Amino acid sequence: MSAIKLLVLDRDGTLIEHVPYLHQPAEVRLLPGVREGLAAARDAGLTLCLHTNQSGVGRGLFTLADAEACTARMIELLDLGPAPFARVCTAPEHPDAPMVYRKPSPRFARELMAEFGLAPDEICYIGDRGSDLETAAAAGTRAVGVATGLDDLAAELRAAGLERFPLFPSFREAVEHVLSLR
Ligand SMILES: [Mg+2]
Repeated sequence: MSAIKLLVLDRDGTLIEHVPYLHQPAEVRLLPGVREGLAAARDAGLTLCLHTNQSGVGRGLFTLADAEACTARMIELLDLGPAPFARVCTAPEHPDAPMVYRKPSPRFARELMAEFGLAPDEICYIGDRGSDLETAAAAGTRAVGVATGLDDLAAELRAAGLERFPLFPSFREAVEHVLSLR
């Protein structure tokens, strides 16, 4: 296998506390070890990208600008410079709408492969939901799960037949695993 060169991070439940339909920047809270984990990955030369489902936009609960303001607040709290993520994909679709970028759509991952000239196994998703790892399965990338969200990820992966993806209790441990593969 090739070395992992690019991480695609989920936002809610992975980098920040999962507040359902978060749309207030004041409610953004980093999860423990996330800043250190992202810094370690970046220092190891990995490109960081963000892929977040924000169906609250499609549901009319808040605007895309609200979702982006929360991402901006997260970036401020991370304190890793103004643009720690090389690409950010915010998927606004309602779950019943045609899937464009909404995970588990592999579209964003495929665009990253083309843009950065990477093979599927040079990309690794990190997320707290089955849909994050389903995205990886659909795109053929690698993935690791973090049990830091609101749902029972192990149960979701069993239900989806995705037990092959490793799970970690914290973001930092997930990143250490990724870096150990290099
Ligand atoms: Mg999540």
